[in-house]
Amino acid sequence: GFRPAARMAEVGVSKILAIGNRAAEMKRAGRPTIILGAGEPDFDTPDHIKHAAAEAMARGETKYTRLDGSPEMKAAVIEKFRRDNALEFSADEITVSTGAKQVIFNAFMATLDPGDEVIVATPCWTSYIDIVNMAEGTAVEVPCDDASGFRLTPRQLEAAITPKTRWVLLNSPSNPTGAAYSAADYAELAEVLRRHPHVWLMVDDMYEHIVYEGFAFVTPLQVAPDLRDRTLTINGVSKAYAMTGWRIGYGAGPAALIKVMAAAQSQSTSCPSSISQAGAVAALTGPQDFLPLRAADFQKRRDLVVAGLNAIDGITCRVPEGAFYTFANCSGLIGRTAPDGTLIDSDTTFCNWVLETADVAMVPGDAFGVPNYFRISYATSETELTEALARLTRACATLC
Ligand code: PLP
Repeated sequence: GFRPAARMAEVGVSKILAIGNRAAEMKRAGRPTIILGAGEPDFDTPDHIKHAAAEAMARGETKYTRLDGSPEMKAAVIEKFRRDNALEFSADEITVSTGAKQVIFNAFMATLDPGDEVIVATPCWTSYIDIVNMAEGTAVEVPCDDASGFRLTPRQLEAAITPKTRWVLLNSPSNPTGAAYSAADYAELAEVLRRHPHVWLMVDDMYEHIVYEGFAFVTPLQVAPDLRDRTLTINGVSKAYAMTGWRIGYGAGPAALIKVMAAAQSQSTSCPSSISQAGAVAALTGPQDFLPLRAADFQKRRDLVVAGLNAIDGITCRVPEGAFYTFANCSGLIGRTAPDGTLIDSDTTFCNWVLETADVAMVPGDAFGVPNYFRISYATSETELTEALARLTRACATLC
């Protein structure tokens, strides 16, 4: 019979996909299901980016590129870090991959030996944990709740570090919470890292450009430049430029690390798509003025969703600083019973019940390692969001 490798024991396809598949099936069957589970912007890739890719194809740029990014693409990434983050990198400190996901994958493949630990603040994007497992490392999950703004505290970080810690991984703004670290938060965490020189910092800045009024985005190296020789800064074009299907992400870190990551990439995908890189160059070097406009648009939807959720008895939701997710606390509903007799005994039961009775798809917090919460992605129209909130409100009112 078939026997999977031991390293795949803890690795699954995301639980988020399971609820998405059920919702899509309901929609196909003609039900008015509203899916609040999407992890991608609801607008199209801007035209100047599409044109740049088409022109590259017409010029014959349809072959392998340099292993971890074409010279043009690396130059565009260097320009991005200089412009947006006041950080200077050289080409041998830059890597370009098939999505930020592959940057993370390469980094763990390149650095983890069995038993090596990666500290991950939860709730988190669950791929982090699956990728650590696939690389045969050990994910050390540190739960953060809404009381601490879903942020890892310096005390928690200090307590989680062991001699086996290889990395601490931070994501700001966060999927699934929308929470983000301020410059002051990073300064405090950096203080802890200074006491533990063997620990490297991996930071996922994927949602950098989706931040809201009153919050200033920073990446840790802007606050703690002395950590440069042990920090990998990860970003990508998927969310900011609505390019999830183009599969381009990038990272900046010490040249010795970048070199081993390139070797890992060499033996999996060889190089990122030449055509997608040409599009990404246009994204990173072309007009940036639409980014704050998109963020303002998302902010309106955030305000709508947060207000709607907080108006429901049994649900509380903190105001996220960025990304397009809310992570609401539904512990006030646990233990209640629906008219059909369903006992709401967990966030998963709650989300399944809402999907079946109100035709609204949301993701249970359990899928991100933290029960009693649920995630809503508000990367959808205000009309749909308003309707979804009305249904959710009506459904919750029937629980007693
Ligand atoms: N990092 C976070 C926090 C994400 O939410 C996602 C996508 O959902 C990614 C990385 C992956 O991005 P990419 O499309 O570049 O692989």
